[in-house]
Order: sequence, then structure tokens, then C-alpha cells
Amino acid sequence: MAEKVKIESGGTKIGSKIVDIHQKNEYTRVNDYKEGMCFGCFGHGIPVGAGVSDICGDCAGKKGRETILVPIKEIVYGMCHFCGDFKHGLEQINARLCIKCTRRVSNHFKNYNRNGGMLETDPFWKSQRRKHGKDWAHIMSKDLGNPR
Ligand SMILES: [Zn+2]
Ligand SMILES: [Zn+2]
Repeated sequence: MAEKVKIESGGTKIGSKIVDIHQKNEYTRVNDYKEGMCFGCFGHGIPVGAGVSDICGDCAGKKGRETILVPIKEIVYGMCHFCGDFKHGLEQINARLCIKCTRRVSNHFKNYNRNGGMLETDPFWKSQRRKHGKDWAHIMSKDLGNPR
């Protein structure tokens, strides 16, 4: 006999909204099978919790959709939490991750912050800076409403 599935909303508004969407949908309804699968490594690790992640098409294609708890929304452009690359056409999903995969995801964020955040790691902003050369600092301080 399977244990009764515990559904974790994380105590947040978006959390309970996600749970709502899950349970109403035949396809995403939480069951024991999904509860036991880590989205990141497909069942090699024991999931420790559900979280919201952004994933690019390449990673999503590799991982398949079976263990996604629920797709939340589409993201036009951003950093993929799984490969750390900036891409177009990401998807925000709710999925369970094991401790290893959680750590892998948070490492992408650590690198991102260590490397200076969006302006230093995002290829779009990097190319903008190259394009504008020494005017860059001027443009940025103007754009940020930061006159000196
Ligand atoms: Zn994993
Ligand atoms: Zn990716």
C-alpha cells in the first residue's frame, strides 16, 4: 500500500495555486510515482522538495516532461536554471529536485552573482557593452537614473 501523498504548497500563495492546478488536472495530479522522481536526474536522487525552476528548450527536451509537476508559464528570455545559459523561450515549471540537483541549480546562481549578475553574464548586455565601448558607463548611469 502506498502511503498517502503529502502535497507541499510551501505555505505560499503561488504554492497553493500550483497545488490547485495540479490536482484539477488529470495529467499533473500528484501521485506516488511523481513524488518519488527527481526532475533533474530522473529518479537517481530522492527529491527533497518541489520548487519553481526556469528551463530552456534544450534541457527540457533532454529531461522529458514526465516528472514535471506542472508547467507554470512561458518566459521569453532568461537564464536556464539547469545549464546556466541565457536563452530565448524558456518555460517556468514546478518540479521536484533531489539535493544534488538543487545544489547544481543554486551553483548556477552563485556563478551568476559572482560574475556580476545580469550585466556581466547575460550575452545580450555583454554585447551591448561591447557595442557602446567607452560610452557604456555613461549610457548605463543615464538609464539607471543615476546622474552624477
Ligand atoms: Zn536529482
Ligand atoms: Zn538549459
